Amino acid sequence: MRSAVLVFVLAFAVAAPSAQPATDPTAALLQEVIRLDTSNPPGREGQVGDLLRTKLQPLGFEITQVPTPEPGKSHFIARLRGDGSRRPVLLAAHADVVGVEREKWSVDPFAGVIRDGYVYGRGAIDFKGGMAVFTRAVMQLAERKVPLTRDVILLVEADEEAASYNTSWLARDHWDKIDCEFALNEGGWIIADERGKVQYVSISTADKSSIGVLVTARGTSTHSSMPRPDNAIFTLAKALTRLADYEMPIQLTPSTRQFFAALAKTSAPPLSDHFRALVENRDGAAVERADREISRNPLWHALMRNTIAPVIVDGGFRSNVIPGSAEATINVRVIPGTEPAEIVQQFTRIVNDPAVTVRLVNANATASRTPASPEDSPLYQALAKHAKATFPTAEVTPYLFQAGTDAGAWRSRGVPVYGIYPYPITAEELTRMHGNDERVSIESLRLGTEMIFNTLVEVAGKR
Ligand SMILES: [Zn+2]
Repeated sequence: MRSAVLVFVLAFAVAAPSAQPATDPTAALLQEVIRLDTSNPPGREGQVGDLLRTKLQPLGFEITQVPTPEPGKSHFIARLRGDGSRRPVLLAAHADVVGVEREKWSVDPFAGVIRDGYVYGRGAIDFKGGMAVFTRAVMQLAERKVPLTRDVILLVEADEEAASYNTSWLARDHWDKIDCEFALNEGGWIIADERGKVQYVSISTADKSSIGVLVTARGTSTHSSMPRPDNAIFTLAKALTRLADYEMPIQLTPSTRQFFAALAKTSAPPLSDHFRALVENRDGAAVERADREISRNPLWHALMRNTIAPVIVDGGFRSNVIPGSAEATINVRVIPGTEPAEIVQQFTRIVNDPAVTVRLVNANATASRTPASPEDSPLYQALAKHAKATFPTAEVTPYLFQAGTDAGAWRSRGVPVYGIYPYPITAEELTRMHGNDERVSIESLRLGTEMIFNTLVEVAGKR
């Protein structure tokens, strides 16, 4: 008995990770929502809404849960009434997360573990951390009885990471519930260096959009003992190699230009010079050198151009049969203004093989045509101001978000959406998003909540 107790005590002393609730209310809420496994598929986002209802309804929020045709999947909408003299501001956060490779995590990804001042778990960055920040910020408006000129709407959404009952689905029949003057969503970054000093805050005003391209190689289907030159798998491999060796040309949008100009100010030489060469579009050799150095960072590489990423390879079904075809799905993330059909033509040209066909499998042409949200709106201005106040060392800049979000439901209707992951993270932590040991620091969550609360007071509070 005694030895058992001793073992327990030792084990406890060694095991720093804790599932105890954090004292910071945003971190404690994040722990709670991480414990609701909303890996999508299937998502089951309704459980998050059920939890948030118990917290927001007693504070005077009007709650609507919009069920989708899929059981357990619903959108959660909480509205805090203002005096109606201005149109609502909306905060959108998706409740679903991507799945995990559980064996590659050092902690249980769905336990809401705290270790060394960080909350660990799937969604800590994307986007349950943001959901917790947005939720705590709007709760504080109610708790402190801030008089409001406009309604503040919190939307916790289903199906951002996968499947079809997303905000576009919600907007079709329930637009009146989420109509607003402008909105906050996931998007830009608050990037800190390894010592925790915040370098920049990027507020996204547009998103890259996602295009699926199917590359199919054909050959003769036959016995594997008599291989022929037209092996579909080899043909596909050659096509993929050509795409791998091809670098998409640089295309800077106005916001990307501002973003890199901000980085020129906050980074050290020689990188700062490379950013300047890129922004000022100096001679070809200088830009080429700048591109090479800047592109060592995968995020910056992706901001400058359309990107090519093979994601699924499919071919063959028996170990003694050469298949008649093999195909690869390529995910292409395009800069606004890129027509999906152009990508098919470009790929066909690069692959340059009559045995290979290239076609679109999914593409949203309107997404790539939607203009960026303006930087002179009260919401952008308030967020930029309080970002600077909360993180005085940072440059604040608009940003083209390198991935897609569900902001299209609003942007396509002319409603500005500004994206922010509202907590400082390092470049290393960013690589954990959709990866392993995703985490966010408790201090980052606290600062982010302060920034969003002050932004809302500025934009929705009575003076
Ligand atoms: Zn996300």
